[in-house]
Amino acid sequence: TQRIFSGIQPSGHLTLGNYLGALKRFVERQDDGIETVYCLVDMHAITVWQAPETLRQQTREAAAAFMAAGIDPARSILFNQSQVPAHAELAWLLNCVARLGWMNRMTQFKDKAGKNSENVSLGLYAYPALMAADILAYHATHIPVGEDQKQHVELTRDIAAKFNHDYGVDFFPLPEPVIEGPATRVMSLRDGSKKMSKSDPSDASRINLTDDADTIAQKFRKARTDAEPLPGSAEGLKDRPEARNLVNIYAALSGETQDQVLSQFEGKGFGDFKPALADVAVSVLGPISTRMGEYLADPAEIDRILGEGAGKAEAISAPIVAKTREIMGMILSR
Ligand code: ATP
Ligand code: MG
Repeated sequence: TQRIFSGIQPSGHLTLGNYLGALKRFVERQDDGIETVYCLVDMHAITVWQAPETLRQQTREAAAAFMAAGIDPARSILFNQSQVPAHAELAWLLNCVARLGWMNRMTQFKDKAGKNSENVSLGLYAYPALMAADILAYHATHIPVGEDQKQHVELTRDIAAKFNHDYGVDFFPLPEPVIEGPATRVMSLRDGSKKMSKSDPSDASRINLTDDADTIAQKFRKARTDAEPLPGSAEGLKDRPEARNLVNIYAALSGETQDQVLSQFEGKGFGDFKPALADVAVSVLGPISTRMGEYLADPAEIDRILGEGAGKAEAISAPIVAKTREIMGMILSR
């Protein structure tokens, strides 16, 4: 049987990249008749410092974003990771399966640690093993993610395969990364070589789902671009990463192809294109941020929904992790 699992870190405001690359896909998957498990991965978020009250607020905000985008807690399991012990527990067991050499190849760690890798948390390094635990604790088979998480899902497959091999079992299914849709890697508005990230120090690098119409228009107006007019087809954007990113965002938001978008803007400059892009973005994101505000007006209700989701998540994951311990030779007598 198939089961979908994915997560988003409450490490800041959710961005347009999170929406197009992940959240929108999660909502589409909800209608496939497959069980969908969506997690606010607060234990991943604390791999970099989060002020406690901010983390709580960001977690509620992320939950509101999920529901505002169309995740229905009656049809999907929606919860925050730390309320379900299976994640931390299985992460330890998998730490003992994952190899140091595998972890050393993870590019997200290198990107996030930068030159200062002596001073980042051990958790940031172990992050991919916790992510493997998130997935494998549910025997999840399909993992919708953005392009940047492909390597971590592949690592999860390696960990699952090594576990199955070392213990001579066929226990963990090997999960498939599902990286699809028109915007699997939305780029920063300030640097066409970096992905848009909610934890980027520059707020101008991203559109947040909480940004109002004026802020969205202003961020696109200030987005880095070249000086050339737009070409007639996507082929002409090949060596223009910033221009390609903006056209791609427009296309993903409007549901058109890049060629269709460019046929409307051929020969026009960014002075014409950027306001049109802002209008499309506001028309899609405006209603979402309005609904987010409605959910956030009742934080106790959000907490109740997360608690209910955690109960359902625990019912699936606790027996899988208990079985994992037993397979590994630990006494299981209660
Ligand atoms: P952080 O900067 O804290 O790592 P983030 O913006 O990278 O935040 P994550 O919580 O790490 O967000 O990732 C959540 C999901 O969003 C993942 O599936 C990830 O692949 C996807 N995602 C993140 N950034 C982008 C992006 N720029 N374009 C498309 N998908 C993205
Ligand atoms: Mg990330």
